[in-house]
Amino acid sequence: MIGARRRPQEESRMPGSRRRARSRLAPALAALVLALVPTAVPVQAAAKPKAPAGYDHHRCGNTSGRVLLTLDDWSYGDDDRAVTVGRSLQRKGIRAAFFLVNSYASRYPKVAAALHAQGHWVGNHTWSHPHLRQLSEREARAEIRGGVDSTLLRPPYGDFGDRETRLAEELGYRICTWTVDTRDWEGPDGTFPGTAALRATVRDAPAADKRSGVVLGHLFSHFPEALPGIIDDLRDQGYRLCRNTGPTTRVIPYPLNC
Ligand SMILES: [Zn+2]
Repeated sequence: MIGARRRPQEESRMPGSRRRARSRLAPALAALVLALVPTAVPVQAAAKPKAPAGYDHHRCGNTSGRVLLTLDDWSYGDDDRAVTVGRSLQRKGIRAAFFLVNSYASRYPKVAAALHAQGHWVGNHTWSHPHLRQLSEREARAEIRGGVDSTLLRPPYGDFGDRETRLAEELGYRICTWTVDTRDWEGPDGTFPGTAALRATVRDAPAADKRSGVVLGHLFSHFPEALPGIIDDLRDQGYRLCRNTGPTTRVIPYPLNC
């Protein structure tokens, strides 16, 4: 288009020799412009999957009717746990999403690679798990940039506002929270709730939060042990889980291919 645009008056004013020189030069210039411009535009566009109209951050783009299980943070002191959990979910034909704290995950790159190979998504949960809203814009941007390279951002503590949504979009992310919070980190006297309590929380959650829903648990709690029971309960209740269709990449699609 750029190369095709002509300015006839200007050309007709040129002396014949310059006109010929210009006409030889024009295709080269046009090729140069075309070579530069199109690369700049799509790369930027690809890096900014702006949240589509009607995007519901609670559902993370899950429109499948199925339930997406998500596991956050890290299993402190048991660095292989994510891979073990990922393998057992894969065996059940289930795709989950892991939002890893990258100050840990980056030390064990094989973990994210194994999760991808198992058919799970690995999302950004920032570098060091801060309250993003309490940071300066520069610090918040650095925390997101330092997170696992992905296209979904789960803000730590679900703490985000308009600024964080904008920063996320600028950096190529959609915000992803949850519809069912197991509160698996909050037991009496600093303990974690047991598997029976976690099962009951998911079993009793409203249907609207489970259909096309997103369940939140953590890698460090009893949530991984509770998962087989949670999955059985969900299936007994007639829900289906996000299907595992093989290896994933850093790009978590919209809508989710569950
Ligand atoms: Zn977290």
